[in-house]
Amino acid sequence: MKKILVTGGAGFIGSHLIERLLNEGNEVISLDNYFTGDKRNIVHLIKNPLFEIVRHDVTMPYFVEVDQIYNLACPASPIHYQYNPIKTVKTSVMGAINMLGLAKRIRATILQASTSEVYGDPKVHPQTEDYWGNVNPIGIRSCYDEGKRCAETLFMDYHRQNKVDIKIIRIFNTYGSRMHPNDGRVVSNFIVQALKNENITVYGDGNQTRSFQYVDDLVDGMLKMMNSETGFIGPVNMGNPGEFTINELAEKVIKLTNSKSKIIYNKLPSDDPMQRKPDISIAKNKLNWEPKIKLDEGLVKTIDYFKKLLEK
Ligand code: NAD
Ligand code: UDP
Repeated sequence: MKKILVTGGAGFIGSHLIERLLNEGNEVISLDNYFTGDKRNIVHLIKNPLFEIVRHDVTMPYFVEVDQIYNLACPASPIHYQYNPIKTVKTSVMGAINMLGLAKRIRATILQASTSEVYGDPKVHPQTEDYWGNVNPIGIRSCYDEGKRCAETLFMDYHRQNKVDIKIIRIFNTYGSRMHPNDGRVVSNFIVQALKNENITVYGDGNQTRSFQYVDDLVDGMLKMMNSETGFIGPVNMGNPGEFTINELAEKVIKLTNSKSKIIYNKLPSDDPMQRKPDISIAKNKLNWEPKIKLDEGLVKTIDYFKKLLEK
């Protein structure tokens, strides 16, 4: 049994991670300021005496004694991270400094939830971890992309300078239950639109690609990375290599929901990456990890979740 701090614990991924950590008998603290997260994502876990909930903002220092820290606090959908871009940078950068300072002081292992966005609009396909990326430093996505890139830099420098035991994972588009229904991400948007028989809003011509990973696969990978051998720090890509165009996703969602929705085409937001697909060789070789859940199977589970949510 370990004592574990999860920042961003009330969010989509954080809540699934905490559920799993508690199921495995660990003591867990969720730290969250509820900007995009929701207490309802974790309220069902409160009866577990090994679980504690803290309202706190990672841009401010926080002290606690734990063995492991998962640093997830950061808005993740474009609508949310662009709402207050300065705060997004502060959350990524000051949040990383505060959590790394804590890890250094208490000698905890700390895992950073980085992102495929560090590759920007990639010129290398599929993306390997040694690719430095193609990121616009002054665009509307930069607050998130550059914030996450700077956080990776801080993780590496705390490791080199202060010997902090770090782990970095780069998460590719993840979906599943407890995604925020209005956060604008493509999977939740399409499912909600389809279930309501509203128009499905494809941005651009819909030929841009993404690789979608079901949240349970990601949580498996996060645990494997956190508990991997000391000195294996990453970065490691975590995503499902299955690559789909946004048009293909729209058609799948319409079919699986038996929806009467029609696809409409809206303007493509600026700096929207044209392609994304992870090379997961490192995760396979070092962690013996690869995703198991195919897109159709994960979509069915997610559709079921949103159906129940919309009926409430
Ligand atoms: P989410 O928005 O559901 O969760 C983020 C959580 O962080 C929320 O609960 C939010 O309230 C909290 N938070 C935000 N700012 C905070 C602050 N200043 N102090 C404390 N808490 C704060 O998003 P998610 O999809 O669960 O993403 C979790 C992490 O994984 C993020 O760091 C994100 O960048 C990363 N990630 C997610 C994806 C994805 O596809 N979901 C892809 C790549 C990386
Ligand atoms: N997208 C879309 N319609 C929507 C929401 C998103 O066509 O209603 C597109 C978006 O332009 C992008 C892709 O789907 O090309 C994935 O968008 P998302 O915001 O989910 O993630 P990210 O762009 O960060 O990968």
